[in-house]
Amino acid sequence: MLGVCRLGLTGGIGSGKSTVAQMLALHGATVIDADALARSVTWAGGAAIAPISLAFGHHLIAADGAMNRVAMRELVYADAAAKRRLEAIIHPLVQLQIEQQAQEAVRTDCSCIVFDVPLLVEAGHWRSKVDRVLVIDCLPQTQLDRVVARNELSRDAVLKIMASQASRLHRLKAADFALFNQHLTFDQLHNEVSQIAPHFGL
Ligand code: ADP
Repeated sequence: MLGVCRLGLTGGIGSGKSTVAQMLALHGATVIDADALARSVTWAGGAAIAPISLAFGHHLIAADGAMNRVAMRELVYADAAAKRRLEAIIHPLVQLQIEQQAQEAVRTDCSCIVFDVPLLVEAGHWRSKVDRVLVIDCLPQTQLDRVVARNELSRDAVLKIMASQASRLHRLKAADFALFNQHLTFDQLHNEVSQIAPHFGL
């Protein structure tokens, strides 16, 4: 492929998307993690703090200067309009940082930029911004088991997130490449990643 390959990487929670992103990074890809950027803009000193304080009030900012996550979670859970207002602050800032990181990767002659975006299929605008879409897939029970095992969320919380995400079929329909991360050891997964990596300029 001539020039840089822009690869959209997606998958449901617990599918193994971040694991595959790390493996692609080992092959030389630059990985841009949309979720990590969304969290970092709401840390102390993050670009979203001042607009959040203005839009929602000081009490949504914790003593350390970061967004008060607990208070914000309660607010947006109960109030859909507040959720939209928060997203309207965060999304453009994240988009800007994604674009800046992508430009930096192009400047350093990187051959593949991986856009690690959990909701790539759900947020339709992404398709036109990437050359290829790689979907990481596994059985729903495995998603649940993996996320509960890493002790992050309760079963109910994971099920709720899974229900809010695109269905497997919907996500797979958007895929140029799909990796079935089921019954694979990490070594086997790494082998699969190595086999498809040349399609992404790696
Ligand atoms: P996602 O980013 O899609 O939420 P992760 O890559 O974080 O998923 O993987 C979820 C969990 O499952 C992690 O703890 C990861 O180490 C584990 N995992 C991913 N793929 C495999 C696999 N093939 N075998 C065993 N564990 C896996």
